[in-house]
Amino acid sequence: MQKKDLKYISSGKAKDIYENSRETLLFEFTDRVTAFDGKKKSEYQEKGEITCKIAEYWFKILESNGIPTHYIECPTSTSMIVKRLDIIPVEVIWRNYAAGSLLRRYEAGDIILPDGVKPKEGSPIPNGMIEFTTKFEVVDRPVDKDEILANNWLSEEEIKYITDLTKRINDIISQELVISDIILADFKVEYGRTSDGKIILADEVGTPDGCRFWIKDDFEKGIITSLDKDVFRKDTGDLSQSYRDLFNKIQNTNV
Ligand code: ADP
Ligand code: UDP
Repeated sequence: MQKKDLKYISSGKAKDIYENSRETLLFEFTDRVTAFDGKKKSEYQEKGEITCKIAEYWFKILESNGIPTHYIECPTSTSMIVKRLDIIPVEVIWRNYAAGSLLRRYEAGDIILPDGVKPKEGSPIPNGMIEFTTKFEVVDRPVDKDEILANNWLSEEEIKYITDLTKRINDIISQELVISDIILADFKVEYGRTSDGKIILADEVGTPDGCRFWIKDDFEKGIITSLDKDVFRKDTGDLSQSYRDLFNKIQNTNV
């Protein structure tokens, strides 16, 4: 089936979504990029294709490690067919190192940092940490367990299940990246419910849109070199080139 024959459903910040069948969706990964809650926008050639390939790469690895995901197949180099889910309205963030909004919230006096974590980008977070934010509000807002429970977004057992799954995803991806000399600093994932109520990994995973990846050699010299959306957020280079570099490094090939 051609994309033009499919019913268009909606567009997110980076992907266009079509109905592929009653039970499946087709994601078209576009070249769009946004940051700062959509305030900064641009397009980079080939970004959609590289992001789709990276997401496919990680979905396959996670599935083979027993993580249940919505991934089915990639019919083209920029599209992915996935199981249609009821998305849980909570974004899940895992952090191995201090960066981004964690430090911004600390600087604003909104949070204290976990024991042993210094208020500096790149400070390691012993054993990592999980955070939750809202998904369907105009601006993502951190939410705690009590608010998640009070809103019936997840049960206590489901929070535990998702926490465990997210930690396993972190361990699998971090371990896979060792050979490529890349550090997974943090990432965001989303989960959804299947029609029979099972919680599985949704959206995209392990992409430079939703993770921070740092070059290990530079990090050990005290320099943070990002191969992810921070290149766009901080205007430090060509985003497509950084995404391509990341893909080459994780595959150890040239594309
Ligand atoms: P966003 O603007 O949220 O970043 P994207 O451009 O990534 O959105 O588009 C993907 C949208 O599709 C997101 O809102 C995401 O929650 C939703 N989504 C992801 N996986 C599924 C799924 N399996 N079923 C239904 N919706 C999904
Ligand atoms: N992230 C994401 N989508 C969001 C918010 C965060 O993919 O809506 C990712 C982000 O790219 C980073 C991690 O989650 O890898 C942690 O993001 P953080 O909370 O530090 O916010 P940011 O600095 O990205 O605004």
